[in-house]
Amino acid sequence: MYDVIIIGAGPAGLTAAIYTGRAKLSTLILESSMVGGNTALTDLIDNYPGFPFGINGQDLMENFSRQAQRFGAELRMEEVTAIEDGPDGKKVSTTQGEYMARAIIIAMGARRRELDVEGENEFLGRGVSYCATCDGAFFQGVPVAVVGGGDSAVKEALYLADMASKVYLIHRREGFRANQTAVDKMLENSHIELKLNKVVQRVQGDALMNRLVLRDVLTGEEEVLPAEGLFISIGLVAAADFLETLVDTEDGYIITDENMQTSVAGVFAAGDIRSKKARQVATAVGDGALAGIAVTEYLKE
Ligand SMILES: Cc1cc2nc3c(=O)[nH]c(=O)nc-3n(C[C@H](O)[C@H](O)[C@H](O)COP(=O)(O)OP(=O)(O)OC[C@H]3O[C@@H](n4cnc5c(N)ncnc54)[C@H](O)[C@@H]3O)c2cc1C
Repeated sequence: MYDVIIIGAGPAGLTAAIYTGRAKLSTLILESSMVGGNTALTDLIDNYPGFPFGINGQDLMENFSRQAQRFGAELRMEEVTAIEDGPDGKKVSTTQGEYMARAIIIAMGARRRELDVEGENEFLGRGVSYCATCDGAFFQGVPVAVVGGGDSAVKEALYLADMASKVYLIHRREGFRANQTAVDKMLENSHIELKLNKVVQRVQGDALMNRLVLRDVLTGEEEVLPAEGLFISIGLVAAADFLETLVDTEDGYIITDENMQTSVAGVFAAGDIRSKKARQVATAVGDGALAGIAVTEYLKE
């Protein structure tokens, strides 16, 4: 029986663990794939306070993890598949076993939204990717495309422009949701060509992807684009199917109060998995700190 089990070792979960560890609560962190979550996949984090020239996401997360473990948090690489709330505590099932805890912090983040077009799954890992930082280096000197109109898409296009021969930025609208500084930088970059009011219709190729069929949303006309990579950056979805029967959610994201308490006593949520406006490292860290403090108070009571 742990005092608290934290699900997810991204910035929210690791911050919560620093707080619960320092409060001397026995803390288990369960992580399914990569310590550091989405932040560890990001090349440069430029807006996290304390690093005037930015910091590599993986380096930042390694420090979070070391700090959490210094305060006694135990980390296991196991995927959580179910949580049950019972009279003897909360039961957490993983692909490898079962654990009990007096309280839970869900910090499972969000995963990338899929385009849901023909060829997307077929060419996944053979041209199609959801992470420029992870896969961009495979596309040195060849044309690639990025889909999306938000901060992440613009950021991915700028990152890829340093290695690909050309980057097509495909966006279904005319205007961008991304911040204007990044958009201006993109517009100045001669390697990036905008394809506005267009959507991806099909991903095509042979053994590897080599072209995209686009459709103009205004005229319906189709166009074939020579691209060997497609980076899909169209937002996030909550990574939490099995949670919907446990706690109240909204569009898949968990609803909490301002202390990160969910609809179930002793179950807290923090970070990108919460229903909230801004999904950033700084806000995930704030959520994690609040959840850690709230759990400590809950267990004292
Ligand atoms: C391309 C990209 C660029 C970004 N750039 C910036 C930026 O410059 N600045 C900024 O502030 N933010 C940026 N962000 C956002 C930032 O990465 C997130 O807001 C932040 O990582 C959220 O932290 P989190 O701990 O809530 O979730 P995550 O970082 O997503 O971590 C959640 C963790 O939970 C794990 N998990 C999920 N399901 C399970 C399960 N069933 N069992 C066990 N573990 C599980 C996941 O594997 C993951 O490690 C970027 C995001 C992306 C995708």
